[in-house]
Amino acid sequence: MITGFELRETSEKGEGIFATKSFKAGDIVMVGVIEKMLNGNHSHASQIGKNEYALHGGLITKVNHSCGPNCGISVNATGAHDYVAIKDISIDKEITFDYAMRNYKIDYFPVKCMCGSISCRGTVTGWQGLSDEKKKEYEGFVAPYLLELDESQ
Ligand SMILES: [Zn+2]
Repeated sequence: MITGFELRETSEKGEGIFATKSFKAGDIVMVGVIEKMLNGNHSHASQIGKNEYALHGGLITKVNHSCGPNCGISVNATGAHDYVAIKDISIDKEITFDYAMRNYKIDYFPVKCMCGSISCRGTVTGWQGLSDEKKKEYEGFVAPYLLELDESQ
């Protein structure tokens, strides 16, 4: 199967996923597949509903967090998360997303963020911890239950 990405070693953050072709904004970069459902949150879990967590399968689980990501999330027909390009991604760029796009709270993550983005928040926070401006910027690229959780607060 021809994909547009591969696993590579990064200089500082361990493994990461890199583009092996260019993508245009709006392209689906990686298709998500749910490997199994979980009873609760844990360090590798994706939140996929208000109180639902799952493990995704495949290389999508190796995509690193960035506070200035080039991908966002779109829920596909299986309930898994596809990664969609927010902006054009050129070949050899690292593919990144923001954990806050799928997790309301981050319970299991080292405190200091290593993303290196100029817009780095310093720590990896969940959706709950984002500013209103950032939430606006990510509009259309986040898991829909986050917006429902905001409304129920
Ligand atoms: Zn950061």
